[in-house]
Amino acid sequence: MSYPLLRVHLDVLRSNMNTIVKKASACGLSVWGVTKGLSAPFEVASVLEGTGVSALADSRVKNIRRLKEAGIKKPFVLIRVPMLSELEDVLEYADVTVVSDVCTMRALSDLCEKRRKGIGVIVMTDMGDLREGFWPDEAAAVAAEIKKLSPLFRVKGVGVNFGCACGVLPSRESMDRFVRFGEEMESVLGYRFDVFSGGGTTRSLISLDSGLFPPRVNNIRIGEGYLHGSDMSSGVTIPWLRQDTMELEAELIEVRIKPTVPIGEVGFDAFGNAPVFEDRGNRKRGILAVGRQDVIIEGLTPLDEGVSVITASSDHCLVDIEDCPVDYKVGDVLRFHPHYGAMLSLSTSPYVTKVFE
Ligand SMILES: *Cc1c(COP(=O)(O)O)cnc(C)c1O
Repeated sequence: MSYPLLRVHLDVLRSNMNTIVKKASACGLSVWGVTKGLSAPFEVASVLEGTGVSALADSRVKNIRRLKEAGIKKPFVLIRVPMLSELEDVLEYADVTVVSDVCTMRALSDLCEKRRKGIGVIVMTDMGDLREGFWPDEAAAVAAEIKKLSPLFRVKGVGVNFGCACGVLPSRESMDRFVRFGEEMESVLGYRFDVFSGGGTTRSLISLDSGLFPPRVNNIRIGEGYLHGSDMSSGVTIPWLRQDTMELEAELIEVRIKPTVPIGEVGFDAFGNAPVFEDRGNRKRGILAVGRQDVIIEGLTPLDEGVSVITASSDHCLVDIEDCPVDYKVGDVLRFHPHYGAMLSLSTSPYVTKVFE
């Protein structure tokens, strides 16, 4: 094995997504399976394709292109509003894209005409998280603009996002405003939308039974839920999902007794921080061959008893192993659960081996 290594349990991801789809559909919600969290590996996309999700979704058109070329057949939604410079690829590879800018919509519509090819769009609205989306009071004006565009540019529905940029949580009140936004657009355009996409994992899975969603909201887009079985925006694990979805494995390259307080004058570390240390005497510590180049160290939870992370530099992670029941030696491997951000960084690091099993 080549370490560091991210081990992903596909059977757990499958079972999580199956559970989510079942619970969501009982509440009238279809689910889009979001692949971006692990950088859209083919293995995960195929697992999702085999569940009841109605589409796959990713934030990068490059990921969508790679997965389609690798043989994924499910419709794909681009869930980051597209760059003007990538519209050719968006039209070629995405079945549906989110949009939040009139100029981009016009350019995409022109391209649809030029290529004689259609695309579905989800018009995003901002209900307070201040990332992408039109303001709620722009609904009629946006719809009027869309009326002028190509019939190949088809509005499939509207979408809203919470909990990403500013951590704003959805409420029944903001969901009702979201529905009004969509219905106002519908009345200008003169047809009914298929999709009212009410958000990602943020508060949606933990609120399935609590009336968060008005009847017209009929879709959620889920990444964190099946990847971690948690909802970080509310700081909870979801009791009906599994959290043992993946682990980071890293190898010890030094094990030695060292003082807990550094020797000499302390300036700033390699990342501009001035670290503080509590004197706990001499303790056994290890160096793992993994660092900030590979992972957001603060997002790692040790899975082996008695291990705690002290600090890390670009390529070294220091761990306290004094209280471990196991007598660790150089060459031994320690395991960690990565949180969402740590998973993102691991999945994009070319130095980390990925194993899907
Ligand atoms: C990432 C993303 C999602 C998925 O969010 P999770 O919290 O991982 O479920 C949904 N919608 C949009 C627009 C996203 O960017």
